[in-house]
Amino acid sequence: MKKTDESGHEYNPETLALGYGYDPARSEGSVKPPVFLTSTFQFKSSKEGKRFFELAYGLDQNQQNEEMGLIYSRINNPNLQIFEERIAAWDQTEKGAVFASGMAAIATTILSLLKPGDYIISSAPVYGGTHFLFKHILPKFNINTIQVLGGDETPQLMKQAAETLGPGKVKMLYIETPANPSNALIDIAKVSELASQLGKGQDKVLTVVDNTFLGPVFQRPAHFGADLILYSATKFIGGHSDLVAGVVTGSKSLVDQIMTYRTILGTMANPFTGWLLLRSLETLSVRMRRQAKNSQKLCELLINHPKVAKVYYPSLHEVGSEQHRIYKQQCTGSGSLISFDVKGDENEAFRVLDAFKIARLAVSLGGTESLVEHPMSMTHADVAKEDLIRFGVSPSMIRMSVGLEHISDLKRDLLQALG
Ligand code: PLP
Repeated sequence: MKKTDESGHEYNPETLALGYGYDPARSEGSVKPPVFLTSTFQFKSSKEGKRFFELAYGLDQNQQNEEMGLIYSRINNPNLQIFEERIAAWDQTEKGAVFASGMAAIATTILSLLKPGDYIISSAPVYGGTHFLFKHILPKFNINTIQVLGGDETPQLMKQAAETLGPGKVKMLYIETPANPSNALIDIAKVSELASQLGKGQDKVLTVVDNTFLGPVFQRPAHFGADLILYSATKFIGGHSDLVAGVVTGSKSLVDQIMTYRTILGTMANPFTGWLLLRSLETLSVRMRRQAKNSQKLCELLINHPKVAKVYYPSLHEVGSEQHRIYKQQCTGSGSLISFDVKGDENEAFRVLDAFKIARLAVSLGGTESLVEHPMSMTHADVAKEDLIRFGVSPSMIRMSVGLEHISDLKRDLLQALG
């Protein structure tokens, strides 16, 4: 199936997820792509093998309409390629690449595009693993990160941080919006604009967005100038809590550079994971919309509950506030991650967490089942307590990933857990 029909009408990603990039005639008429569980692919001739390698290692440019053939599953594999075409179509970017995990996608992206001496300015909080990478691993390669608070002021704070560092130092503006776990929203367009200003007359400064919480269904950062969009595909894109994977999408030239590093670092996903992701993409929109609907209903219950001090959910911001403006500008839905502070301390949060009967006490998010966790002591355990508090994450915060259970059962569960 092609991306457009004969008249040039571009199909929607929901439709593309069912057929784009796959020709049944090449697989015995099988309507679904088979799993290509092979490590290596047979060349038709030595000349063909030589040409594929020239393209794979960037020794020569593709001729018009020339595609690199299949070589070896660390370089390419049909299950990964079909998925990559469909996820890029969803993000409305030129190219996608799939990885063994969200962290593999993030680490490979940064290592392929930055060099010693470069700085990242990142919003905070970010996912705990990303924080660990910024704080403990990248500095070993002399790639350092300045963190600024995620929210209304992020573009301004990033500008100040870049000015303090001086010209030519910053190479990447990295944001997580909504942020994990505070759900703080950051204006992607303003951050992209700042990146263009900072890059004027020097190397391009990249805007990179971790779009795991809302994308690609409810947020398309490329529309607001982002260069690269990252995902933990373990979450909504995989959606069934049965795989670990990551994605980056963006321009062909950037994704090609990242894919060269993926090949050499070996951070690609395996064919079966690619196949599972293809299955998952087919229901992505339906799942995310239904999970968001369930979440809105739970929020209504939480905001009026006497044991709840505060609810963090993107659509709940007051009309007239900057967060509400950002939400309206760049999101088409609010997703299904709800964070809330219970009245009391960590002990009270633990009491509530331990009392859930349907929602499972586990990290991760975006699966069909509801999950609850305690960010301060679990997903974000490596971040200093004082920093977390500064970033709006309190000891009494619970993060809930809302699943596809019947809403009446979810409401009952939440009410009985709160007590
Ligand atoms: N980004 C966000 C926002 C996440 O929540 C996570 C994991 O929870 C990651 C990245 C890392 O993804 P993975 O666990 O697939 O490596």
